Amino acid sequence: MRFSRNINALDLGVSFEFFPPKSEKMEETLWASIERLAPLKPRFVSVTYGAGGSTRERTHNTVSRIVRETSLKPAAHLTCVDASRTEVDDVVRGYWAAGVRHIVALRGDPAGGVGARYQPHTDGYASTPDLIQGIREIGDFDITVSAYPEKHPESPDVPADIAILKRKVEAGATRAITQFFFDNDLFERYVERVRAAGIDIPIIPGIVPVVNFAQTAQFARKTGASVPNWLAQRFEGLENDPATRQLVAAAVAAEQVMDLVDRGYRDFHFYTMNRADLVYAVCHMMGLRADQPVSAEATKAA
Ligand code: FAD
Repeated sequence: MRFSRNINALDLGVSFEFFPPKSEKMEETLWASIERLAPLKPRFVSVTYGAGGSTRERTHNTVSRIVRETSLKPAAHLTCVDASRTEVDDVVRGYWAAGVRHIVALRGDPAGGVGARYQPHTDGYASTPDLIQGIREIGDFDITVSAYPEKHPESPDVPADIAILKRKVEAGATRAITQFFFDNDLFERYVERVRAAGIDIPIIPGIVPVVNFAQTAQFARKTGASVPNWLAQRFEGLENDPATRQLVAAAVAAEQVMDLVDRGYRDFHFYTMNRADLVYAVCHMMGLRADQPVSAEATKAA
């Protein structure tokens, strides 16, 4: 295992992604995780968004509570699925009023789920660049977008995918977070192509700790992320051994991050699944410590 031994943790930046809880029990888990991870001083924490009134409200409530009760900087995810411009604009104004200044702007998945054909709402934002323009007309938000090292499943090829990213940057996006991936060579080749296309915003690698291999592999198939054989082998035979799975998952994620650090990357976005333990362990191995001072914005990031 190639672990960088010369990491200056002060140069590293992390962000954590959560999803809005659906029940009181899930809410408790989420807040316990936020409290555990907050002392690591993430650059921001983001909260995902789903189509439909109740999930929208849950995102808003979670983000607002983060503003009210913590010193963390929240980023609210927002999609244009199944909503008119007026409805989306109201959500954006609601975030501004709640003190939120960072939005992760996304087109979103079709109501029928990944794989179904995307149909913009007749009165809605047609695409992510459109949405970004709309958000910028409402307030001076920091805007993050998605990026796909292995291309989005709907893209014919990587150049077409990068062309969409370029349009999002031209509309005002200031950073991109990638879909999760496991092959760092592949990510690095993608970043080279992004740079060759004249895109210079930070491309932050999205890291998913593999809590449950079967589930991750299934999700990867839907999102077009490849699952290397070596990863399957690491989890082979551990289906009924959650304790060992945890240890392996932390080691695998740490190995991926350390290798990216060795390659010069400094910012990392963790898909936490609302669980703190694995992400906390990986951050610890990166050298991050609770309440250590934060360096000036060290966003070499890709
Ligand atoms: P975009 O990057 O705008 O487009 C994706 C692809 O669609 C393009 O690559 C292209 O193939 C095609 N496309 C788009 N516009 C055009 C066009 N004008 N012409 C031709 N082709 C086009 N989903 C949620 O529902 N809620 C979330 O909170 C959420 N958070 C996410 C966070 C991250 C970091 C990532 C990577 C994904 C997230 N998603 C979320 C998933 C995302 O909504 C889906 O992947 C969705 O299918 C695409 O949205 P996007 O903004 O990534 O699309």
